[in-house]
Amino acid sequence: MSVRVGEAAEAPDFPQAAKRLLGNTQLRHNVRHATNVIRKKRAKVVEELPDWQALREAGRQIKQHTLRHLDFYLDQFESACTHAGGHVHWARDADEANRIVVSLIQEQHATEVIKVKTMTSDEIGLNAALDAAGIRPYETDLADLIVQLGEDRPSHIVVPALHRNKMEVRRIFLEKMGLTELGDQPEDLTNAARSYLREKFLRVKVAISGANFAVAQTGSICIVESEGNGRMCVSLPEMLITLVGIEKVIPTFQDLEVFLQLLPRSATGERMNPYNSIWTGVTPGDGPREFHVILLDNGRTNVLFDSESRDTLSCIRCGACLNSCPVYRQTGGHAYGSVYAGPIGAILTPQLQSMEHSQSLPYASSLCGACYEVCPVKINIPEILIHLRGDVVERGDAPVLERAAMKAAAIVLETPGRLSAAQTLARVAQVPFERNGLIRQLPGPLGAWTAIRDLTPVPKQSFRQWWRERKRSDHI
Ligand code: SF4
Repeated sequence: MSVRVGEAAEAPDFPQAAKRLLGNTQLRHNVRHATNVIRKKRAKVVEELPDWQALREAGRQIKQHTLRHLDFYLDQFESACTHAGGHVHWARDADEANRIVVSLIQEQHATEVIKVKTMTSDEIGLNAALDAAGIRPYETDLADLIVQLGEDRPSHIVVPALHRNKMEVRRIFLEKMGLTELGDQPEDLTNAARSYLREKFLRVKVAISGANFAVAQTGSICIVESEGNGRMCVSLPEMLITLVGIEKVIPTFQDLEVFLQLLPRSATGERMNPYNSIWTGVTPGDGPREFHVILLDNGRTNVLFDSESRDTLSCIRCGACLNSCPVYRQTGGHAYGSVYAGPIGAILTPQLQSMEHSQSLPYASSLCGACYEVCPVKINIPEILIHLRGDVVERGDAPVLERAAMKAAAIVLETPGRLSAAQTLARVAQVPFERNGLIRQLPGPLGAWTAIRDLTPVPKQSFRQWWRERKRSDHI
């Protein structure tokens, strides 16, 4: 089985990539500005709902229940979708999914496809597989189109071109659309994209979409979006291929009531997405004549096995954790080396790849908990990060210095006597470095710790000593 998450296996470690990106002030400005705007909008619309916490809890419970009975709901989805005239395919990994997509398109003798809202296709490297088979993919979501034309990589799971400002987008459009003139206002840019895409919507016969939700009860697929391009993709072509991660299944149509409130508010700060497209099988004379769903595993079953990190699969890809993460807001998404950036990427990518690559990602967090606070399905990301850090250590993949420090800490913390001796030693050793009640610079490799933070010195008296003295003086 060849599980692949974009280029993640070849990507540099997070600290290395982040260091380079931190030097790009324009990118940092773009990311900070965009995430600030979305966070403010989100906070406003979330505050409006008195039952927001109850909605989050409902979302969490539906997802947890589904994951516990995923085999049942996937089977149910397959029969309902087939009954409605769709065809369901199962793909164990990226290669198998790519093979299925390419062969379906080749059966149609098509050489072009339009695509919308399918981050899963980035995960499996579908565009490269299509190119290799002589099939030209056109992204139709505006942000994905910017990424594709700019020969770039997505940096955010909801707004893939979040790291670009409008002047950069204008430059890309001028160059790649062969335009001689183009204004720099958002309307000018969207008009240019509209003209570029419209003739493709009308000409291309095969479309590939992702899915926000797959409803087991009815075999329906649901996509939410803001531009209407998704609606064009799922209704105009003759054949529609939908690529869905197996974790996107929800049990009933009624469950959408919960998720269609949670998702837009968390993702774009909207009360409702402007376009909610739900389709079930095929209907003669209405929409695509052929409809295929590919249910993709690509490492998800492995995540399911681990009860401590299984909740990762509850993610509804709203991006709220990225917008609130102090690490993501500094580095942007490319530092994560995966199509899944930010806190969710830091837990999802290493697990999909069975911890074979991306071992630095569980450390790409300050564990401040902001991601957990905003997650609409209450995924406890900090807890999962710690669990994965444990895995990294157990596999012996942790940095040498850290392993040595942890071993030393284990020896010291084993008995009260050793701890007390270590504290006495530290009190003596810290004297030359203490200035005005703080340690501002440690020697040698320890200096990396104090390079960006001050350290509080070991107190003159431990709690244990203070308590002993107090008991003596108060005759307790
Ligand atoms: S982990 Fe939660 S906050 Fe982050 S993208 Fe997924 S659902 Fe949204």
